[in-house]
Amino acid sequence: MTTEAYIHLGLRSVTALLALAAVAFGVLRALTKRGDWFRRLKRLIGALVLLGIAWLALHDVLATIERGTALETSIESWVWVAVDALLPVFFLLLIEGWRRRDALEARLAEQSETDPLTGLPNRRGFSALAGAALAAVRRHGEPCVVVALDLDRFKAINDGHGHAAGDVVLRGVAAAIRASVRGRDVAGRLGGEEFALLLPGDDVADAVSVAERLRALVRATVPHPAGGDAAVTLSAGVAVVGAAPAGIDAALAAADRALYEAKRQGRDRVLVAG
Ligand code: GH3
Ligand code: MG
Ligand code: MG
Repeated sequence: MTTEAYIHLGLRSVTALLALAAVAFGVLRALTKRGDWFRRLKRLIGALVLLGIAWLALHDVLATIERGTALETSIESWVWVAVDALLPVFFLLLIEGWRRRDALEARLAEQSETDPLTGLPNRRGFSALAGAALAAVRRHGEPCVVVALDLDRFKAINDGHGHAAGDVVLRGVAAAIRASVRGRDVAGRLGGEEFALLLPGDDVADAVSVAERLRALVRATVPHPAGGDAAVTLSAGVAVVGAAPAGIDAALAAADRALYEAKRQGRDRVLVAG
């Protein structure tokens, strides 16, 4: 074989390998990550183009071996061979770009639904998770309750000991909440010093005992910055999530009314709506 034939063989083999690698990379991503139809269509067309490039390159490799000479005779055809080798590289870079954008999107979605101070779902995250949990509960015909929680006299902690001390208390309460819920339950920080629980499969009595246990846990494990006998306490309202179409928002509003009544009766207690 001539030197030109070896160069040709090398270039076309590299092109075919790169094109197949790009297809494998793209197909693997398509298998592990489900995108919308537009993204799937892009991947499908990309895979077809790459398979075409690989097929033509392999065809050239075989033809070159058979003849023992390079197929290319003009400068232009050598330029096209080089461009052909760059195409799969371009696709690989494109696929890597998609991968990075997908990862970024996932991270942004996660951040937009998480409260950075406590790591609990924020109001948006709570709504999304609670909506999904409630749909599952309704499919199985199970009951479901929500608990609205609000720390007592929290403003006094901030005013007397500083915002940073208030933040430490909020983190402690979030840890107690995490320790109090089971796998299916959804907990979130709805804002400020207000938290909520959705307890799928539980009835009012179960929810009251969860809230009472949490109240005791917070008292026992979250130190009050004033020290001494001072304790971090909370008030809670419990409400049943009614049948559709009344949803979580209506139940949370009812739980909030019970919570307000708990505050009015002197705080540090759990009350049931209605
Ligand atoms: P009540 O017993 O009636 O619930 O009284 P409260 O003082 O707990 O309620 P209020 O709504 O008057 O005060 C809530 C305070 O929570 C006011 C606000 O400054 C504080 N707060 C809200 N978000 C944060 C936060 O992220 N960190 C800290 N440290 N404080 C916060
Ligand atoms: Mg409060
Ligand atoms: Mg409040």
